[in-house]
Amino acid sequence: MRTTGYAAQSAETPLAPFTFERRDLRPNDVAMDILYCGVCHSDLHTARSDWPWTIYPVVPGHEIVGRVTAVGPEVTRYKVGDAVAVGCMVDSCQHCDQCRKGEEQLCREGNTGTYSARDRITGEATQGGYSRHLVVREEFVLRVPDGLDLARAAPLLCAGITTYSPLRTWGVVAGSRVGVIGLGGLGHMAVKLASGMGAHVTVLSRTPDKEADARDLGADAFLVSADAEAMTRAASGFDLIIDTVPVRHDLNPYLPLLDVDGTLVLVGQVGPMDEFSSLPLLGGRRRVAGSPIGGIRETQEMLDFCAETNILPEVEMIRMDQINEAYERMERSDVRYRFVIDMASLSDAA
Ligand SMILES: [Zn+2]
Ligand SMILES: [Zn+2]
Repeated sequence: MRTTGYAAQSAETPLAPFTFERRDLRPNDVAMDILYCGVCHSDLHTARSDWPWTIYPVVPGHEIVGRVTAVGPEVTRYKVGDAVAVGCMVDSCQHCDQCRKGEEQLCREGNTGTYSARDRITGEATQGGYSRHLVVREEFVLRVPDGLDLARAAPLLCAGITTYSPLRTWGVVAGSRVGVIGLGGLGHMAVKLASGMGAHVTVLSRTPDKEADARDLGADAFLVSADAEAMTRAASGFDLIIDTVPVRHDLNPYLPLLDVDGTLVLVGQVGPMDEFSSLPLLGGRRRVAGSPIGGIRETQEMLDFCAETNILPEVEMIRMDQINEAYERMERSDVRYRFVIDMASLSDAA
């Protein structure tokens, strides 16, 4: 099937219209028209080859909401017309211990990314959601529950699950004390989701200027990390801190904020971090951890949770041809809090 999208041809070229093929339906495949696609920092990093695995040309996009247009003969869970979603992965080995547990993101053979990865059967490069159509095997398709606004749901597929999964993994319940560092695409979802679980949520920020926004999103408290006195008062006050900062940074100020057995989990920066002292880790039996997206079962659970609790990302809708400008704004953190591409705009652009 011929389809159109926006691709980067190299690390130096802006995204531009691109025509390519989606594979013919395999027996267990679902084909969909893409309605909306969120814009994630990973899209930008991949398009610009900030990480070493980009395969050009690349069509980014892994926060995908669409509608089923065809299904293979073995598909049992979806039918034409269903509202569906696809996140950061489109395949995995399906037989290792992690896949059998529903933790496909941790597949022992490596999961297959939605873009810039190799199809497990043909070896062709996978292409993401900045396009009109998508074909994905049934096991990696999510159901968008009734009542979830399709236009706003897309960022749940990466920003949502990336913050939901650690909240569940580290057992956040009503009354848990949760800190969130960074108030961007990931951070604003961490606040909404933790708040939806009944946690006491504190946003940590270098400056006080985001306090009103943080409280609007559902935060109960705000802590200015440059305020040494306030940071001392907050010592040992958190069960879990979700660190969404997407660049190299210093953890030393945050580690003493964890209570005994508390965990700081990194979900933003992929790569080197500044040096930090082990003293607060040993002294308080504190932990530093990381967490990648979540499994398919948990992603569906997150979508259902968001529908039940009426949690949706804050989005700014853009046209496909505004994507390069959106990347520039994203680099300046000039977005509240996630860009979503209205794929209906693609017919005019490409
Ligand atoms: Zn992402
Ligand atoms: Zn596996």
